[in-house]
Amino acid sequence: MRVGILTDRPDFFYDIHSLVKSFFPDDDVSIFQEDETAKREAGYNLELKVGIPDYTDRKAAKDALKQELYRTLSDYTGTELPWGILSGIRPTRIPMQMLGAGASEEEAVRYLTENDYVSLPKAQLAVRIAKRERRLLADVPLGEAAYSLYVHIPFCPSICLYCTFSSSPVSAWKKRIDEYLDTVIREMQRRHEQIVMSGRRSGPVTVYIGGGTPTSLSAGQLDRLLGSISRIFDLSGVIEYTVEAGRPDSFEKEKLAVLKQHGVTRISVNPQTMNDRTLELIGRRHTTEDTVRAFHMAREAGFENINMDIILGLPGEGEAELQNTLEGISQLEPDSLTVHSLAVKRASRLTRQILEDREKDECADRGAFRGLSLDNSADLMDMAAGSAERLGMVPYYLYRQKNMRGNLENTGFSVPGKECLYNILIMEEVQTIEAFGAGASTKTVYDDGRIERTISPKDVKTYLERMNQ
Ligand code: SF4
Repeated sequence: MRVGILTDRPDFFYDIHSLVKSFFPDDDVSIFQEDETAKREAGYNLELKVGIPDYTDRKAAKDALKQELYRTLSDYTGTELPWGILSGIRPTRIPMQMLGAGASEEEAVRYLTENDYVSLPKAQLAVRIAKRERRLLADVPLGEAAYSLYVHIPFCPSICLYCTFSSSPVSAWKKRIDEYLDTVIREMQRRHEQIVMSGRRSGPVTVYIGGGTPTSLSAGQLDRLLGSISRIFDLSGVIEYTVEAGRPDSFEKEKLAVLKQHGVTRISVNPQTMNDRTLELIGRRHTTEDTVRAFHMAREAGFENINMDIILGLPGEGEAELQNTLEGISQLEPDSLTVHSLAVKRASRLTRQILEDREKDECADRGAFRGLSLDNSADLMDMAAGSAERLGMVPYYLYRQKNMRGNLENTGFSVPGKECLYNILIMEEVQTIEAFGAGASTKTVYDDGRIERTISPKDVKTYLERMNQ
């Protein structure tokens, strides 16, 4: 299907495109400025014209346009979107700000349902999470002087088919990993000197080593990295130290001992699914047995805060497969569970393979995805939420991505007291994140609400060249 939208508001192209794509995720959507009609091609299955009278307030104008477009598309398709006209990645920021300004929970729910057309269950979830986040952040130092630390390790044992993060196979970089670590360490030293000179705290509030898969480094490399972090920064005020170990095929006792020795408090063991056939399809190169082994290894190493990530909507997975995943996870009893809705992004190999499968039926090896669903639904999300709640967990953070299956969300559940504060800080943008490594994004949050972003080159080679000039 081809959808063409004509508008007199080019300043809202992006918002229009995001909303239309939410109704037609697998279709071709084009937006044209009204006076450019000559440029557009013919042959659209659906053509719409959207515009609004001039509003002085930009937000009011945007909301009015999106509301009109939403009603038209909802009538046309006969569907409602769980998050209504909201297309941003942080829907909880609206209730966070409202509650902070003194609104009641009922008022926040009403605003989300009536102004943003969010479904009642999702509006209630957003407000519940915002309330929890406010409570969790109450004692965390915020404002200009405080910051958290993020270090990006862009290597993984193999590259998952759906991956669009900044990551490369560790085998391809084996000879240059030490050079990468040296560069990151130098970057941290330089930045720390600037932080101290600016009179801010000399140490972070939380530390998060993410990726990629940080545990794809050797035990010695991890020791060097974590040792350097504690030599450069004053870690005496750190209230949470996470290493996103992630891939079970990177776990080794020696590496876990190094993490423990350096004061890491929280790690992740991410199965994504507990179905071996799916793991093979998505290129994870580990089995469910490896996940179980990695989890027990982490517990034996003394980790009392272990997160697990799962993804809903993986190829061919429905209720039965999710049930199997949830049962497997429940037996392990992690401390938190992050439930992701698969985001099918253009840049991923998964998207390319699915498109090729659709077009080239005759190609046997590309045909692995032929006929497989890629569906997530509110019912599947409810199943996962029910399972988390039976493990004593409550939802504590939420975010959305573009092109999520079912137009849903990612939700973090946790046993009370085991939440990841860093996740909340980065989503709600209430504290500066000093980020290091290829593709890392430093976000400076000023007391007057301004936010500045500085992003390092995503490509490892370019990062190394740029930082070592
Ligand atoms: S483990 Fe994560 S970062 Fe690594 S390839 Fe898979 S999706 Fe990408």
